[in-house]
Amino acid sequence: MPGLLTSQNLTEMRYLVVGWSNLTVSRVTTLIEHGSSSVVVAGVNGLTEAEAERATAAGASQVLDRPFTVDDLTTLGREEVDKVVDGVFVTLPKARFIKEIEQIYNTCRRLRVPVNVADAPEYCTFTLLSSYAHGDFQLGVTTNGKGCRLASRIKREVVKSLPTNIDEICERVGSLRQRIYQEDLSEVLETAVGQEDDDAGQSREFNTLVLEHEETLEQRKKQRLRWLSQVVEYYPLSRLGSISVEELSREYKQTIKNENATVTSLPEAAPRGRIALVGSGPGNAGLLTAAALQAITSADVVLADKLVPEEVLALIPRRTPVRIAKKFPGNAERAQEELLQLGLEGLEAGEYVVRLKQGDPYIFGRGAEEFNYFRSKGYTPEVVPGITSALSAPLVAKIPVTHREVADQVLICTGTGRRGALPTIPEWVESRTCVFLMALHRIGNVVEALANKGWDLSVPCCVIERASCPDQRIIRTRLRDVAEALEAAGSRPPGLLVTGYACEVIEKLGSEKWRIEEGLGN
Ligand code: SAH
Repeated sequence: MPGLLTSQNLTEMRYLVVGWSNLTVSRVTTLIEHGSSSVVVAGVNGLTEAEAERATAAGASQVLDRPFTVDDLTTLGREEVDKVVDGVFVTLPKARFIKEIEQIYNTCRRLRVPVNVADAPEYCTFTLLSSYAHGDFQLGVTTNGKGCRLASRIKREVVKSLPTNIDEICERVGSLRQRIYQEDLSEVLETAVGQEDDDAGQSREFNTLVLEHEETLEQRKKQRLRWLSQVVEYYPLSRLGSISVEELSREYKQTIKNENATVTSLPEAAPRGRIALVGSGPGNAGLLTAAALQAITSADVVLADKLVPEEVLALIPRRTPVRIAKKFPGNAERAQEELLQLGLEGLEAGEYVVRLKQGDPYIFGRGAEEFNYFRSKGYTPEVVPGITSALSAPLVAKIPVTHREVADQVLICTGTGRRGALPTIPEWVESRTCVFLMALHRIGNVVEALANKGWDLSVPCCVIERASCPDQRIIRTRLRDVAEALEAAGSRPPGLLVTGYACEVIEKLGSEKWRIEEGLGN
């Protein structure tokens, strides 16, 4: 028979966890996370010092320094409930401790103390759900003992289909209800109605709507609540997460007007803008993700970096307006502000704005700055990852950034620090591949700084420009010669520098100072 699902309030509760296994620590953590104020951990044969320490670190308020006895169930609890514990988790293996488990279970049953024995549903008066929490939203899944992995898988599937701001949705609806109860909404409504010739003698609750229809405050309140339940029932969840009290009150007023004080239908939901920050990969259209392609083909407007190449821009439908940031040296800030402004205008007009960014939005792309900006304006962006040039450019140049016994780490860094100064220069680590972005225009300074930091300048390195594009160019050389090589070849931005012995795992430089490979497929 399936059990009754409830959500238990654990505040002030004193739980006992008996036994020792990895599960013990997780039980303690779960209890503490859900507000239990004290958890006692006990072992049937006592606990070792290390076990006691781990239990305490997980939040246990007491650890028994002697073996557990069944009397502990009636002596370790809170004073106000005659010291009977509020609940018990047993984490003992059933095969070895069946006698103890039976004794604990029977005592708990008699005392009506909830008890849960790990992996032994026949000794449980309750079981835990596979759960998901986001703010005040919680979801629990159980298969009634048919398999906790299955429950967890089903939970993940359900969670995937939820709006990502489900926490905000709960919060928003909760505070609206609260405001209606407290009559605050009537004040908002009054303002929204814009009633100027307010009768000075009127009470705060007495708004125009009440006057118009000669209803009592109580009736009006009931009507508002009924209207709110309809909103909750019929509005798309995404809209519930973003609508403000003021907007709602305006719609409410409209509804009342349309329906002559009878709430029978909802007004059309005004379209609301949304935005995605989308990574466009290193340049080759084949390296766009399916999600990025979907975004650019369904956008109302695309705002692109100047680095996003023609081949990718060509995939944007002709009818879709495209704005490209004119980010040239000296006006980067202004260009960025202009783009943010354009984005906001699109959003306010209810459009789907796609902010297309070279590579991955969060690798030196100011992606998070934009995220925070739009979120502060009430539009939380969806972020679509992209293939970063930092990892794909080495690949197209036949450089495995990690390789057994050659490179056990890879570092992505910039050659340009704040306001054009040199950035923090990484330590020399022989087994590390370093990828320097935004470094080629000042390659001389970068090499000098590396030398000062003790780098071995004979290390192989590689300059990769316009990686993955038809005019891709690769310059293989050594750190000491790279500035000279680049000067001789002339620059072809965007490009980056890769250093480390990984550079010669597949392709080796012979006696020449540098070697240049032009185009794709070399
Ligand atoms: N978000 C981007 C990086 C932006 S910073 C990403 O994840 O790729 C801009 C720097 O990226 C350029 O200065 C250059 O160093 C590097 N870059 C971008 N595209 C490149 C490409 N196709 N080939 C080589 N380097 C590239």
